[in-house]
Amino acid sequence: MASGSRKLSDYFRRNARQRGYSAEWDKKASAYLEAHPVCVGCRGIGLVVPATVVDHIIPHKGDRRLFWDSNNWQGLCTWHHNSIKPELERRFHGKQIPAAQLFCDSATGKELTRARYRPAVGADGYATPASSPR
Ligand SMILES: [Zn+2]
Repeated sequence: MASGSRKLSDYFRRNARQRGYSAEWDKKASAYLEAHPVCVGCRGIGLVVPATVVDHIIPHKGDRRLFWDSNNWQGLCTWHHNSIKPELERRFHGKQIPAAQLFCDSATGKELTRARYRPAVGADGYATPASSPR
């Protein structure tokens, strides 16, 4: 996964404003998160974790219509956005899954979440109930 994570950090290093994330986007994204406060991927496996990122379900790649279409948005926690969504997109681009599986609560999304999710363990050795995915 070394080359994969290097690519991901390059992606985040690029200037967000250059990628089309404007003040207008910030406003719409926070309104969206207020209306959709729970991570779609976590909810898919029965967890309630706050959504902190508005994700473009189908990668917009500069397409204005896809960018602004709120039907193409899903609220995700950082873990789902950084760990599960890139894998779904990789499979989508490799034509292994259709666009409908890009939702983090799709069958593929849930399968990946269950495979990768590890609950945080408290000092007492038991999983902490309020822990979010890492
Ligand atoms: Zn999540």
